[in-house]
Amino acid sequence: MDWTPTRAAGLARLAQFLPAAGPAYAERRNLDLGPQDRSNISALSPWLRRRLITEDEVVAAVLARHSYAQAEKFIQEVAWRTYWKGWLELRPQLLVRFNAERIALKAELEGDSHLARRFARATSGETGIACFDAWAEELRDKGWLHNHARMWFASIWIFTLRLPWQLGADFFYKHLLDADPASNTLSWRWVAGLHTQGKHYLARAENIARNTGGRFAPHGQLDEAAAPLTEAAPPLPVTPLASAQRHDHGPCALLLTEEDLHPESWEIGGEVKAIAVLPSASVAQPDSPAALFSQGALDDAAARAQAHFGIPASVVEADRLPGWLHGQGLTTLITAEAPVGLIGWQLAEVARRLASDGAALLQLRREWDDLLWPHATAGFFKLKTRLPTTIARLGLDPATPRLL
Ligand SMILES: Cc1cc2nc3c(=O)[nH]c(=O)nc-3n(C[C@H](O)[C@H](O)[C@H](O)COP(=O)(O)OP(=O)(O)OC[C@H]3O[C@@H](n4cnc5c(N)ncnc54)[C@H](O)[C@@H]3O)c2cc1C
Repeated sequence: MDWTPTRAAGLARLAQFLPAAGPAYAERRNLDLGPQDRSNISALSPWLRRRLITEDEVVAAVLARHSYAQAEKFIQEVAWRTYWKGWLELRPQLLVRFNAERIALKAELEGDSHLARRFARATSGETGIACFDAWAEELRDKGWLHNHARMWFASIWIFTLRLPWQLGADFFYKHLLDADPASNTLSWRWVAGLHTQGKHYLARAENIARNTGGRFAPHGQLDEAAAPLTEAAPPLPVTPLASAQRHDHGPCALLLTEEDLHPESWEIGGEVKAIAVLPSASVAQPDSPAALFSQGALDDAAARAQAHFGIPASVVEADRLPGWLHGQGLTTLITAEAPVGLIGWQLAEVARRLASDGAALLQLRREWDDLLWPHATAGFFKLKTRLPTTIARLGLDPATPRLL
């Protein structure tokens, strides 16, 4: 795979994958053919995660080539990202809770040498379970794993190695090129049986052998009868989504963050006078594949924004943003809505400070999110059934009249 962190490279990968997005994807997507062959899946997640390319343009490109019925499976997978984001957006406290648990467990590692040894063996790929060890290495070296390998890995981590799921999610988050608070945290909870209570995902040797073309066959090494995890904390209530913000007129500055790096398609009313770029939010090791992708994506977006709006872009730390905006003689800072997570939390603080200075941070929500997030109240099914009307509403399918 060529993981060049630019929009152009994302679009090139999309074009290359399009012929396989129809029935071939539905038939073959579960196969993990190994790092040398990713032809059966799109591998678009690092670009989609940062919106170097967007969900709606991927869906439109697919529907220009296949009918909705032919590409339904692929489109539904794209919508899983939306579902996880929406689900967390409606229960933001879950990430706060996860973060506290993660920090407490990291501290426990310091004082518990038995747990620390088991954790080190898993993350360095020395468990003796060949598939798991290979995926640990692939994750560290390449920063990416096939979806099925992520499911098997998380399941073996939780049910065979009996390690805390929060530490596994933290390990993934530090290494994945597509590290995303919602997809990552909630997928780990789904595997553990905490998302749909009592329904967990158990990795089975036979399934691994079949879907890796026999590269791995961990017969007798996995706990294939483990019970789902349970947790004492009560389920969180659904917090209704705040209305989407708009910017209709007046001069403004733009803020680019890794949550959305395609400012050319933001709906900005009014003249853009200045551009700031928030430094990378990656928690990966410097010079690791994930850190390099993250930095490259920001550089690419800054260069495109400069060319598109015809003004320079400068990197500005979050705590300097109010002063920077004031220095530009502006009172409105526009960015794309940052969902729950590190960037979202940083922006909440920026918004508070700007408000106390008589300025404002406006977070624009894309229509795709605005139409679908409210349906992430329970399981995926509810959101999935909204896809055809959402696609028609947004005019993404040439075969369907646009709904206004
Ligand atoms: C334990 C675990 C952790 C994960 N952590 C992340 C993460 O941090 N970031 C991340 O982007 N994805 C995560 N995923 C979801 C999924 O594995 C990846 O999005 C997918 O493997 C990306 O490969 P692809 O681009 O080839 O997907 P394709 O199969 O080609 O699907 C197309 C697009 O649909 C979306 N998509 C597909 N499957 C899922 C899914 N199950 N959940 C969410 N979106 C999906 C992605 O944007 C993907 O690029 C995780 C899954 C598991 C089981």
